[in-house]
Amino acid sequence: MKKCNLTENNTRYKHLIMQITGTHFNYYLICHRKLWLFANGIQMEHTSDAVYEGKLIHETSYDRRSDKYREIEMNGIKIDYFEPRNRIVHEIKKSDKRSEAHQWQLKYYLYVLEQNGVKECTGLLEYPRLHKTEEVLLTTPDRDAIREMVVAIKTIINNDVCPPKLPRSKCKNCSYFDFCHSGEE
Ligand code: SF4
Repeated sequence: MKKCNLTENNTRYKHLIMQITGTHFNYYLICHRKLWLFANGIQMEHTSDAVYEGKLIHETSYDRRSDKYREIEMNGIKIDYFEPRNRIVHEIKKSDKRSEAHQWQLKYYLYVLEQNGVKECTGLLEYPRLHKTEEVLLTTPDRDAIREMVVAIKTIINNDVCPPKLPRSKCKNCSYFDFCHSGEE
């Protein structure tokens, strides 16, 4: 079992982490430990059924509409479904249980687009299984909050010690569950 105090690895990865991604934002809102583990090279997504299921939903939901969309990569973010004509960023999620994290991930995409001259975009959070769509906009207070969050995210990532784990009850479906909680009563 890997231990969490991976000072050597952490130091090795630190200098590589220059750009913050939507995933960093998402994890920051979910669990600081998850953010730290992910950013410091301990990634478990490939072992998670929930992540695999989410990817399937993501890939199949837009199959017939793909011509309408563009994939965009800039400043560390990757947007799979951008609708240039209406300036809409679509983000597909499996469940709305982490909706605040989803909203900020999408707001961060809008922020990065704006910083790169693609202004006045709208975000659409889509939950195909729930037949639910939610509009996400970037406001002035959001821009300030994002700048503060970027600082907080970098501080967590660059800390030599990973943050404490959350109680098991808050960790359902997390791909790091076994890493964090195996061996507990
Ligand atoms: S299992 Fe819990 S404590 Fe561990 S990374 Fe996931 S959410 Fe955080």
